[in-house]
Parts: sequence; structure tokens; C-alpha cells
Amino acid sequence: MSENGNEREGVRTVEKGYPRYRVEPGERVSLATIDPDETEHYRKKKDVAKELEKQRRRIQGLQARLYAENERGLLIVLQAMDTGGKDGTIKHVFSGVNPQGCRVSSFKRPSAEESNHDFLWRYHKSAPARGRIGIFNRSHYEDVLVVRVKGLVPEEVWRERYRQINDFERNLSLDGITVLKFFLHISRDEQKRRLQSRLDNPDKRWKFSSADIKERAFWDDYQQAFEDVLSNCSTEHATWYIVPANKKWYRNLVIARTIADTLAAIDPHFPPAEEGLEDIEIPD
Ligand code: AMP
Ligand code: MG
Repeated sequence: MSENGNEREGVRTVEKGYPRYRVEPGERVSLATIDPDETEHYRKKKDVAKELEKQRRRIQGLQARLYAENERGLLIVLQAMDTGGKDGTIKHVFSGVNPQGCRVSSFKRPSAEESNHDFLWRYHKSAPARGRIGIFNRSHYEDVLVVRVKGLVPEEVWRERYRQINDFERNLSLDGITVLKFFLHISRDEQKRRLQSRLDNPDKRWKFSSADIKERAFWDDYQQAFEDVLSNCSTEHATWYIVPANKKWYRNLVIARTIADTLAAIDPHFPPAEEGLEDIEIPD
């Protein structure tokens, strides 16, 4: 029995009555041992509706404090295999969050200007300011994922990047920006279903890229690259969470809950009001 009890493969330690998907610093991750179909005791979308709404409201309330306090920030990194659900997560978890305090940055193939800088440049520029939540839809991790799998730089260059990334995230966290990272874990079969549904559904076809089929052939290489990312870059400053993501509704719940808990741990406060406000009368 582990310290928190109830340990089995896929669902690791239970705290607060729900599974822990956090990767401990130094832990060697094997994705094959983590079940992407995990849903705790929930069976269908309806079962999590109330709980998801509760977590969204927690996020909204805590974000208002984070914004007002204007001291600390939160950077949320989303990474996944193609069709893993990064866009859906943003849509469903952040609906209702005040757009003024929140910014989504999506990273594609670097532009000519971006390629002319050090690889972290474009990410650092998009890091959230104090009081803000920044969401990275893809991130600096692409530079040890697609870049590695496609051999876009030599191995000695990408190998060094784990350390550069850890240093970058440590610097952010020491300066008040908490870094929270989610890997949305889907199975190979689930990716096939989702690609097929993009083809079959006229409203989703725009999302289909024949490049996705080519990338799918590199499934094993990507899984390996993700395992190295998760094993090398979950630190005390910037934690990785592996989220079972075959069921979209469960994925949304886990991510919303983890963000709400992280914001609660940051514990932002409204700044103190000016003194003597009780005596003020607003003139006509
Ligand atoms: P999507 O997110 O589907 O719009 O696709 C964006 C594409 O940009 C993906 O194929 C990524 O692999 C690619 N991409 C993102 N960052 C990088 C990078 N640093 N180097 C090369 N390709 C990248
Ligand atoms: Mg795509």
C-alpha cells in the first residue's frame, strides 16, 4: 500500500478522493502502463456535469483574485498527439473565464523570424504577465518532440534542451509564474477514430490535414519522445500531469480540477482596500 493508498496501474495514488496523475520529479514514465480510458467511478458525460461546473466556477473565482492581486501568474502548457484534444480542452475548461485575464498562444512551425532566434524566444515572449493566465496550445516542448522525431536538429542539440527547458521554467516559477503542464493521453485506436470522424463530418473536415496521416506513422517515435519529456521535465518547479484523454468529458474534469487546485494553492488575494472608504459619500 502506498502512502495514500489504493495504488494500481493506470490510476496511481489517491489523494482528496481522486487519482493522482502527477509525474514525480525523477520518475521514469512508461505510457503503456497508463490507461487512457480511465474514468474513475464515472461512466458517462452526464455523471461529471455538476462536478465540472463546480471546478469551472472555482477557476473563475480564483482567476478574479489572481488578476486583482497582480503579483503571480499561471502558465498552462497543453501537449498531445494529434487529435489529443488540446482545442477541446481550451473550449470546455475555460468557458466562462474572464478573457481579460487570459491569453491562448498557439504554436505552429516557427516563422523565419522565430527560427532566427534561440528556440525559447517565441515562448518566453508569450509567457503570461503577473495577474494573468497564459495557455500554450503546443509549446517549447515541440522543440524536443516534432523536432526530435523529424530530425530537424542534431541529437546533441535537442538532448541539451531538456535542461534548457527546466531552467526556463524554473526561472519563470522563481519569478512568480507557476508552470502547469498537461499531456493529454489518448490511445492509437482513439486517434484513428478521431481522424476518421474529421473525415466523415463536414463541419470537422477543415481540421483534417493529410499530414496527420503521415505523423501517425511515427506514433511510436512520438510516444518515446513524450516519455522522455515527461521523465526529464517534471520538476518541483513545473509539474507534468498525464491525463487519461480517450473520454473527453473525463479529460475536461481532470484538467479543470487540477487547474482549480493549483490556483487554490497559489492562494491569490484581493489587494487591501484604501483606508477610510466607509466614510466616503459619492457626490451627486
Ligand atoms: P496544428 O496545431 O494542428 O495547427 O499544427 C501545428 C503544426 O506545427 C504541428 O504539425 C506541429 O508539429 C508544428 N510545430 C509546432 N511547433 C513546432 C516547432 N517548434 N518546430 C517544428 N514544427 C512545429
Ligand atoms: Mg493539426
